[in-house]
Amino acid sequence: MANRREPKPGKSDPDSPLPSPGDDQDQAWHGVLSRENLEALSTLQLLDLIASKVPGQRAVLLDLVYLRERLSALEEMNDQAREALEKFEEIVAKLRSPAFRIGTFLGVVEKDQAHVAIGGTEYVCRVDPKVIPTELSTGQRVLCNEAFAVVGAFGFDAGGPIARVEDLLSEGRIRLVNDTGLAPIVVCRSALLAKEKLKPGHEVRLDPSQRVALEVVGTSKRIDRSLESVSVLPWSSIGGQEEAVRAIRDAIELPYLHRDLFRRFEHSIPKGFLLHGPPGCGKTLLGKATAYNLREQIRTATGVERPQFFLHVKGPEILNMWVGESERQVRDLFAQCRERAVEGALAFLFIDEAESILGTRRGSRSQSILSTLVPMFCTEMDGLEPLQNVVVILASNRADLIDPAILRPGRIDRKIRVRRPDREGAEAIYRIYLKEGIPLAETAASLAAGITERHYARTQSNEFLEVTYRSGRRDVLYRGDLNSGAVIAAVVERAKALAIQRSIDTRTDSALGRDDLFEALSREYSENDLFPTTEITEDWLKLTDFDPESVVRLGPIRQKKAGAPSVV
Ligand code: ADP
Repeated sequence: MANRREPKPGKSDPDSPLPSPGDDQDQAWHGVLSRENLEALSTLQLLDLIASKVPGQRAVLLDLVYLRERLSALEEMNDQAREALEKFEEIVAKLRSPAFRIGTFLGVVEKDQAHVAIGGTEYVCRVDPKVIPTELSTGQRVLCNEAFAVVGAFGFDAGGPIARVEDLLSEGRIRLVNDTGLAPIVVCRSALLAKEKLKPGHEVRLDPSQRVALEVVGTSKRIDRSLESVSVLPWSSIGGQEEAVRAIRDAIELPYLHRDLFRRFEHSIPKGFLLHGPPGCGKTLLGKATAYNLREQIRTATGVERPQFFLHVKGPEILNMWVGESERQVRDLFAQCRERAVEGALAFLFIDEAESILGTRRGSRSQSILSTLVPMFCTEMDGLEPLQNVVVILASNRADLIDPAILRPGRIDRKIRVRRPDREGAEAIYRIYLKEGIPLAETAASLAAGITERHYARTQSNEFLEVTYRSGRRDVLYRGDLNSGAVIAAVVERAKALAIQRSIDTRTDSALGRDDLFEALSREYSENDLFPTTEITEDWLKLTDFDPESVVRLGPIRQKKAGAPSVV
């Protein structure tokens, strides 16, 4: 029995070379022991037994004592070697045992049973008593042994597929879609998401078994940012755009309010329109006012209050996304509008700087993206039913660059021009911003007339741009020629700031007067950020209607005359 651990001598002292006189066992040892009794003794005990049987033989006893010491040392070495071997065997057994499976904890079934998903399969697993099922969280990873028993737990997975929330269902469940074309799936929330306010459009990361949504990943913010609330914007809050307003009302309001009439006459109904014209002239404002006024009209006509959904996106924002993402975004914008429309909302999709994503494909810097975006946009437009509560509005400073496929009948077939305000229009806009309620030094009407007069005067101080034509002819553009609603709104804001500053400085109630407006006008044209900061002709050409072919140079006069006293 080489491996058998020697029983430690119990009743005799193992360190004693000889049995002590008077030992209880003395008598037994002097007799003949059975084999069974002998086997119960350790080697050292046997030696002690033999020694007890050779009394008086001193020399033999001394040798036996020496032998005993040797044996004792060997036994100790043996013990140490056995212990090391046992440890080693334990390690080998661990290394040879099969790997644990990692599963996703879904819930407790009974006190000692857990619902676990491993790969694509679900199990009700026994739980090792060391693991307390009620302390596990939904979505957390658990370790399962060969018998699929849960033997350990650790944190949440850090990776996993991403999908988009399409709908929120009862009991915290979420309906998800992804862009790989797979069928929508329904998952539950992890403990981490239990209190999260999820919204359709949020992107969430799933556990590897795709049963639990683990966390919200940040991209959803993009959708929130483009969603805008439409403030109170009656048509009267827009000045000098009567023609555009009439065209919009004819195109959108009439068909909405007189559906049957339009259907009976089989009159084509637009699904949207394109607003084109220089920057700052109210294209975005008109888009929002369309949304506000259509809702108001429907409310007045039918008494029904429709929820409003206005998605405002800028073309370049979509274009700058990574490969495939631009297309996904455009599809997603239409999908969101359709979803809201199904719920009864009036959904508006407003795409600013539309030429950047819907421009002619040939020769464009983003040719490859446009070659997929334009047909995709057309397909989405074709899929929209007219009057189904989704209105698409495109805005652009360069309508000539928009792909004609977009502007075919049945898509965006109404092009509405938004012009720079003329003198009359400018006065109307000044009237809108010079509200009667604010402290004014004169009546709003006379202030508006005064500042418009100054704004459009053909004086030297109003000279703003110089044009040199290919023919050699030179021409001067005045401030009024480059006017816009945005400039007027900014002039009035500056004038208010001047009046406020004066009130603070003089500690009197100072009212906004003509001089404030004149000073503000002058500053606006020299300091504003509405005009290009360069002298590059192309940048300035974008603000005008000149044919680029016939212009050699177009640049600000103000910079040419640097150093000259400014005359206001
Ligand atoms: P665009 O979209 O054509 O670049 P915006 O609609 O963004 O121009 O106009 C910028 C701001 O200028 C508006 O928020 C509004 O304050 C003012 N504005 C522009 N045009 C008008 C207008 N016709 N009437 C009143 N305010 C205007």
